[in-house]
Amino acid sequence: MGKFKENVIQPLIDCWSLIVGLKITGKYFCKPLVTVHYPRQVIDDENLETYGGHVELIGKPKDPATPKCISCMMCVTNCPSKCLTVVKSKPPKLTAEEEAAMKAAEEAGEKVSKPKAPKNPAKFLYDYSLCSLCGTCIENCPAKSLKFSNNIYWVATSRKEMKIDLLARLKEQATELSAPVPKTEAVSAAAEKEA
Ligand code: SF4
Ligand code: SF4
Repeated sequence: MGKFKENVIQPLIDCWSLIVGLKITGKYFCKPLVTVHYPRQVIDDENLETYGGHVELIGKPKDPATPKCISCMMCVTNCPSKCLTVVKSKPPKLTAEEEAAMKAAEEAGEKVSKPKAPKNPAKFLYDYSLCSLCGTCIENCPAKSLKFSNNIYWVATSRKEMKIDLLARLKEQATELSAPVPKTEAVSAAAEKEA
């Protein structure tokens, strides 16, 4: 009985295990590819919506180069890795004439309101090398001004490059968005639409 189990039953069990493995391999072999041959192929933008890269600012709908940020510092206070630096904007400086006019108005008993500082931050710096991508800053932002980037192709070759000026990045993105589409791309997009 021992020899029968060793020479017949066990090989049959092994064969069944192989068949099960081949069945799983065959199932995935026939499914469409979910990987690409980078850099010969790239992933379409619509398939990158769930990718969570570095943190970045969201611009105002009518002014994409200006962040929705109101400099409240919630993200800075709550970031466990201390990788965000936000500097508030200062009120605009008055000219000598404006100051003199304001002083005169005050002396005349008029109610004078001094110019207020803009809510947008003067600086918004982010150190990606320290970020744990926990999402706390995004969750705590009352202005909904932060998100994870879906730029899967972002690379850095040094820690210095991982310190990102998020205001400058937002401006670059707004410029790219407003740039006219190159003629060849526009023509092929139109051709694709027609097909
Ligand atoms: S994702 Fe987390 S670690 Fe990264 S900046 Fe936001 S709060 Fe800090
Ligand atoms: S990004 Fe949001 S949480 Fe951070 S300072 Fe601006 S408004 Fe506040």
